[in-house]
Amino acid sequence: MKNHSVPMRRCVGCMTSYPKKELVRFVLADGRLQVCESGKENGRGVYLCRSLDCFVKAVKRKKISNDLMDEFEKVLKSVEVNV
Ligand SMILES: [Zn+2]
Repeated sequence: MKNHSVPMRRCVGCMTSYPKKELVRFVLADGRLQVCESGKENGRGVYLCRSLDCFVKAVKRKKISNDLMDEFEKVLKSVEVNV
């Protein structure tokens, strides 16, 4: 096992583990899932790759609600700008 010091989380879309910071986190807040960009909010969360494919897979697995698509796309776009 390499990269043991890097916290790994599993994407709920493709079910593959990646370093936590490479994933987008969604947190259950106020009774609904919200994109959590700081990664600091507490609570139940799910992780997704920065990929719409994984988002769609996660919706099919009922891990995430389809109405988060807009928010997720915003995150993807903001990442492109920052990089
Ligand atoms: Zn994924």
